[in-house]
Amino acid sequence: MEEKYYYLNSEPNVDGYHYVHAYECTEKPRVLFQVKLGFFSDAEALLEEAHHYFSKVKLCPKCCPKPITKTNHLNFALRDHYNTYEKP
Ligand SMILES: [Zn+2]
Repeated sequence: MEEKYYYLNSEPNVDGYHYVHAYECTEKPRVLFQVKLGFFSDAEALLEEAHHYFSKVKLCPKCCPKPITKTNHLNFALRDHYNTYEKP
């Protein structure tokens, strides 16, 4: 996965989550709401960084890296983690 520059939206979405977007994403937050996260190439590191700012964060399905998609139960757990990553 190539590295991209990511932003976190400091304004929550209607679902209450703060979304992470790549620089080139059309749904990137407005300048006022952009939190610069830096360069990332994998979903887990990106979520961890975003998590420093907000407890409820999600990755934009259009522009963000996705966790491994092989179907075994470990990856189902990872997929759930990807969909709803909240601070315990
Ligand atoms: Zn996006």
